[in-house]
Amino acid sequence: MAGRLYEFSLRTERQGFTDITAQVAEAAHKSGVSDGLCTVFCPHTTAAITINENADPDVIGDMLYGLDTAFPDRSEFRHAEGNSAAHLKSSTVGASETVILSGGQLVLGTWQGIYFCEFDGPRTRRFFVSIC
Ligand code: ZN
Repeated sequence: MAGRLYEFSLRTERQGFTDITAQVAEAAHKSGVSDGLCTVFCPHTTAAITINENADPDVIGDMLYGLDTAFPDRSEFRHAEGNSAAHLKSSTVGASETVILSGGQLVLGTWQGIYFCEFDGPRTRRFFVSIC
């Protein structure tokens, strides 16, 4: 791939968060950029990217439970594919995150990890990391 754009793929479960911090750090390392910005982007409408706690796995379970509670499947939804709740979660969580790169390292808090969020799997998904 040209320039400082890196593409990754992953296989997901029905719903869940996958820690992609190591892949993002690998892209940052490969880029050779020491100080800059790292954008992580999800090109899907029923998945997302977020940053949250990587210490207690119960946090991710609680986030999924909270999102399910906030966005239940509703009989009023009209989208024929039947996955409107997943679309709502995707836009709420967001398609991208930006992380500061300093001295070749991702600037993340002690308990922060970068996650790919699946809301309508299982599927083969992609995400992009752009370093500048
Ligand atoms: Zn849909």
